[in-house]
Amino acid sequence: VNKIVIIGGVGGGATVAAQIRRTDPDSEIHILDRCGYISFANCGMPYYLGGEITERDRVIYSENDFAEKYNVSIETYAEVTHIEKEKKTVFFEKNNKPYEMDYDTLILSPGARAIMPDLQGIQSNTFTLRTIEDMDRIEAFISEKQPKTAAVIGGGFVGLEMVENLHKRGLQCSLIDHSEHVMKRLDPDMASHVDEHLMENGVELYLNDKLKSYSNHGTTLHLQSGKTIKADMTLMAVGITPNVELAKDAGLELGETGAIKVNKVMQTNDPSIYALGDAVEEVDFITKKPAHVALAWPAHRQAFVIASHLNGETIQRDGILGSSLFRVFDLTVAITGQNSQSLNELNIPFNAVTSKGFSHAGYYPGSEKLWMKIVYDPKSGQLLGGSVIGKKGADKRMAVLATAIKGKLTVDDLTDLELGYNPIYSSSKDAINILGYKAREQWKKANS
Ligand code: FAD
Repeated sequence: VNKIVIIGGVGGGATVAAQIRRTDPDSEIHILDRCGYISFANCGMPYYLGGEITERDRVIYSENDFAEKYNVSIETYAEVTHIEKEKKTVFFEKNNKPYEMDYDTLILSPGARAIMPDLQGIQSNTFTLRTIEDMDRIEAFISEKQPKTAAVIGGGFVGLEMVENLHKRGLQCSLIDHSEHVMKRLDPDMASHVDEHLMENGVELYLNDKLKSYSNHGTTLHLQSGKTIKADMTLMAVGITPNVELAKDAGLELGETGAIKVNKVMQTNDPSIYALGDAVEEVDFITKKPAHVALAWPAHRQAFVIASHLNGETIQRDGILGSSLFRVFDLTVAITGQNSQSLNELNIPFNAVTSKGFSHAGYYPGSEKLWMKIVYDPKSGQLLGGSVIGKKGADKRMAVLATAIKGKLTVDDLTDLELGYNPIYSSSKDAINILGYKAREQWKKANS
């Protein structure tokens, strides 16, 4: 019998197991994970901590149910220590005992770990959020110690989601980010809407600043600027490092970003070892440069590509857009593709257009502003990226932009997208069409 071993059983690992089983009833599938839980919903953890998801079980898939449903064997608390690819064997430790397991196909989905800087004075009231164990530690601290104030370090999506959710738990929050604005995937003019919204919601924002050290049992934070902040707890959300050590030690190739290099069907340089998820690097759809994007959609798609390949069908990944979507209090922030900053860094020519639209017809109650920005190729007019921020309807507009980019549409095409009209949902010219008209005019003028 064909034997498939999967390292990591969450976003990518559990999904690839389920996808393989869809078409392959016979192979033996083994999942090894060093944590105590598999297939949990990382993306749901902030909302459990904020109290919106009320039951812990809702973010955790029962190990037994998963094993039974997909006929897979699962070992939790099983830390893989090394891989001998010549012998097609993985070595792992469980309960301090060594084990080994051979394989025909090995799939790596070890994810990434949250960066925890080694700062002077750091104490156990500083947390990261990556695993269920992390979530439980934060929950226990909040319920037992009843903190009143929190500092969140890092204004990426995990930091922003946690600010909102800690605020919902009644904590007064400070957010510290080393950039001029939060969320570096947004251009500054778009990010400033998020900064303002955070402040409107009572978040103390420290931009262009960095946490240097702690004192007073980890409750006084000293910033680079000389400012101090009082916080009963700190969430460190300053980024992640892909877990590549196993792959590297096994002699698998890493890419330019430091993540595992794979081909278009997600094979490493050893064709019997595939890799996916936060640990791998792909190629950016627009720039064609190596890109490390740590999000759940790519992990799920990559799982499908691997399962198909094992089943004899070649579906090639043609690049990653990094579409992402999150909420900050009442705002939805939706981003796809490139922005002015990233294109400037790569010396890729572009034009940018911003437009203020509305979620739906102004005469129907509840119409809300939408801030939109796109970047496009100045010659062909083809879309290169976009972001949409608003209280309603931002997600669907970004989804249209992401589809347009994938379909290689131009700004002119945006004017001709028949997106459907009803005053409750849109306008007779949708915000996307209006953005298209504005960009089309600019583009035509520049090329006339
Ligand atoms: P993971 O899901 O992290 O799984 C990796 C697993 O490998 C872990 O369980 C780890 O224990 C195990 N492992 C590692 N090394 C070993 C070893 N040596 N031996 C055995 N096991 C090992 N993405 C979105 O698209 N949208 C969101 O809204 C979103 N929200 C998020 C919120 C939070 C708080 C976090 C942390 C992430 C969020 N993400 C979101 C990102 C998304 O969860 C990841 O992209 C996805 O889980 C990646 O899957 P993965 O399999 O690569 O890694």
